[in-house]
Formats: sequence, structure tokens, C-alpha cells
Amino acid sequence: ENETAKPHVAIMPSPGIGHITPLLEIAKRLVVLHDFHVSFIVIATNEASAGQGNLLQSSTLPPGLDVVYLPTVDVFAVTTNGMPLAARLCAIVEEAIKSLKSVLVKLGKIKAVVVDLFCTQAFDICSELSIPAYLFFTASIALLNFSLYLPTLDREVEGEFVDLPEPVKVPGCPPIRPEDLLDQVKNRKIDEYKWYLFHSSRFHLGAGIFLNSWEDLEPANFKAITEDPFFKQIHTPPVHPVGPLIKIEEPLTASDADCLAWLDKQPPNSVLFVSLGSGGTLTVEQLTELAWGLELSHQRFIFVVRMPTNSSASAAFFNAGSDVSDPKTYLPTGFLERTQERGLVVPSWAPQVLVLKHPSTGGFLTHCGWNSTLEAVTHGMPMIAWPLYAEQRMNATILAEEIGIAIKPVAEPGASLVGREEVERVVRLAILEGKEMRKKIEELKDSAAKAMEIGGSSYDSLACLAKEWKS
Ligand code: UDP
Repeated sequence: ENETAKPHVAIMPSPGIGHITPLLEIAKRLVVLHDFHVSFIVIATNEASAGQGNLLQSSTLPPGLDVVYLPTVDVFAVTTNGMPLAARLCAIVEEAIKSLKSVLVKLGKIKAVVVDLFCTQAFDICSELSIPAYLFFTASIALLNFSLYLPTLDREVEGEFVDLPEPVKVPGCPPIRPEDLLDQVKNRKIDEYKWYLFHSSRFHLGAGIFLNSWEDLEPANFKAITEDPFFKQIHTPPVHPVGPLIKIEEPLTASDADCLAWLDKQPPNSVLFVSLGSGGTLTVEQLTELAWGLELSHQRFIFVVRMPTNSSASAAFFNAGSDVSDPKTYLPTGFLERTQERGLVVPSWAPQVLVLKHPSTGGFLTHCGWNSTLEAVTHGMPMIAWPLYAEQRMNATILAEEIGIAIKPVAEPGASLVGREEVERVVRLAILEGKEMRKKIEELKDSAAKAMEIGGSSYDSLACLAKEWKS
């Protein structure tokens, strides 16, 4: 069938694999399951980004899904050294999105545009072009609800939110401890906060909001956004739960293949996968303790390692591909030799979804990025929660305390460091015990699979919109 005859939708994520992945998945679903033509609009920059290139290889995309690049943004012209993560992202989007209008016009007749949380300028552009524009929220419903409440909080609270004596109570939602608040709202005086508030206060301009979640995973927060009068009062658009949308497969590198071959040789459910997202890094001290803890636990592991740094917990976002240092130079002396029988150390990047899917994998030490969380749930993998940046502390608390599918290691009193004995304890717990946790995560795994099947809640939400867009 001629692509130009099919209904056409444009989808645009902000940079970063955590944003591109779920938006690409919804794009694929629209093409494959609902017979749409999708233009996937990508913000190109003149710097490398971990894992991004692989994802967008045209050989892996179905016909009818076209990648359209916006003119390349010169990152060095629009950002400064040491800029916080989200501020940097927002500055890049602000520049790139200037060309969105002309790109959309060139694409011809578009039924709908879908953008993520850092691209809300698109709502104005689409309004000028009379195209309905939707928000795709790439994180938890809990964070969405907090973000929708943020403009109110901003008006009502003086001083820093992190200094509040009580947890933040978003109407109808479980309370959020001030120390769990996302990095972006920890300092109200800086640009990063202003950007986050800017986008959050525009979410209601969307024609609808896609949730990468489903009711069973976050029942209280789902009930709040769909039923609590507060969210009606602030004109929250209709929400469409379509999750868990996770990466299903991607082309393998030689190192990826080695990693999977190694897993093939291990006993079922015996391996702990240790990976801190696309940008996560540890301090020198913390990396040492984590390595020692893994060693002392005597459990099998795959350890995705990056050069440690004391500068930031998300340093690898900015030096993707340039970290070529030999792990020997920063892991404890003799670690590789002593653990070679039961551990595999992988520099920088591993095929995470395939590792989590593998029958030998039995636990996941994760930074609790929302995509990693959904991948863990989809594959029934109990977690050790190791939050580092963005909203990950919130996610860790939800997983450990509300849902009960993760263990949170306890840091040493007065320090943020998790010592080697504590690492040893949680690793053994996750791999050898944790029956309750496994039971709960198996239930959620089934619930996730049901939601995504034909006739399931997430499948139906998307099918329903697809029908609306076609008519
Ligand atoms: N990822 C991967 N290999 C790695 C590290 C990360 O494939 O070694 C993928 C992971 O599967 C997930 C994404 O990168 O889909 C990270 O997204 P997430 O939201 O968990 O965290 P972020 O990187 O955005 O902080």
C-alpha cells in the first residue's frame, strides 16, 4: 500500500535514549499494528550520545516509519560547561524546535503530533497549524502528577521544597518525601528549575497525555489523575495509559554478543545485572565499595562499568563513546582476576533488555530510570534500587516501599556512601531470597503482558486514539 495514502502522524522526542526509546516504540506500534505512516522527528546534535545511533538504524525500523532529522544543533553554542542535565537538554530543544514548523509544513497533512515532556513549545507551533498535539510522558504517573501540581506548589511555597518539614502531598497521591524530589526542583533559583516549571505548566495544553504506565503498576496515582477534582480543576487533558512500552530488540555489537554468550553458560536465575542507565556514574569511593560488595557476595554478576567521577552522577551522558579507559585502571586492584570465574565486567554499555530477558539473570541493580524500571517489571526481575539523578529517588521509593519489588540499600550514617558489607547483604538478598518480592513482580509481569495484548487496557487506549485520528 502507498505510504502517502495512510494517515500520517509526527512524533518528536527530546534527545537522550530514555526519551527516544519509548517514543520510538509507540511510533512502531502505530505503524505495525494500526497502519499509520509515522515521521519520527529527531533532534540532531554535534556530540555523541550513548546507544542512540543503534536505535535509529533504518534497517531495524519497519517500512512506514521515517526518521526525519531537524537541522543539527551546535551544542557548544547553546550550552555551557557544567550546565545541569535538564537545563542542557531544554536549551538544545529550544534551539532545534525553531525549525519544527517548517518541517511539519513540508511533511504535508498530519493527523496528530506527539512530543515528550521537554518539547512543549510544539503545542504553540501545532496550534498555529491546527494539528492536535499530545504529550507523551516518559516517566511515572507519580512524577506526572507532581509536575502538574508544581505550578500550584510554586505559588504557595516560599523557600526551597527540599527544606519543607513535611512530605509533599499532591492531591490524591501518596506523599513524596522532600529528599526524594527530583533534582530539577531542588534549587528554585537556577535555570534548570525554571525550565522544568515552564514545561510542567504547559502540559495541560496538550490534546491528551500518553502515560508509559498502566493502572496496576501505579493504582493510587492513576486514580488521582483520572478522578481527583484537583486534576480536573487544572484542566488536565484526557490521559491514555499505553505502557509498559519498552525497547524490544536492537542490533547487537560484538561485545553485546559476548555478553549474551557468557550468560548462556550460567545457571538459571543466578546472575545479578548491574547497570546504571545511559548516563549514570559513581564516585571513585562508591565504585570501589560496589565492586568489593559484589566480590564479597560470591554471586554471579554482569557489571556495566564506567570511569568513576566525583563531578556528577550522570557524567556519562556527556562523554558517551569517549570513555575508553581500561576498567583495570579504576576497579580495585585484582578485582578482575579474583572474580573472573563468576563475573563479567562490561565497559560502558550492555544489551540491557536482552540481559533482563535471559533465563540466567536473576536480579537487577538499577539506577531506577523509568525505562529500566519498566524493563525490569516486564521481565519479572527483582531490583536493588540505586537511584542517582533526575527523579530516580522517587522511583526507588515507589518500587521499594509502595510496590515492594525492590530492595533499597542503606547508606552509612551521615554519608551518602553505601558500604561494601551493605552491598554484599542486598546482593545476596536479591539473588538468594526475596520470595515476597518475586511473587509480587511475577504478578506485575503478568499484568503488564495482559495490558499490552490485544484487548488489554494499554493496547485498547492506543487503538482507540488511532481510530480517532483516522476518522
Ligand atoms: N541501556 C542499555 N544498556 C546499558 C544502559 C542502558 O541498553 O548499558 C538502556 C536501557 O535498557 C534503557 C535506557 O538505556 O532502555 C535507559 O533509560 P532509563 O530511563 O532507564 O534511564 P536514563 O538513561 O534515561 O537515565
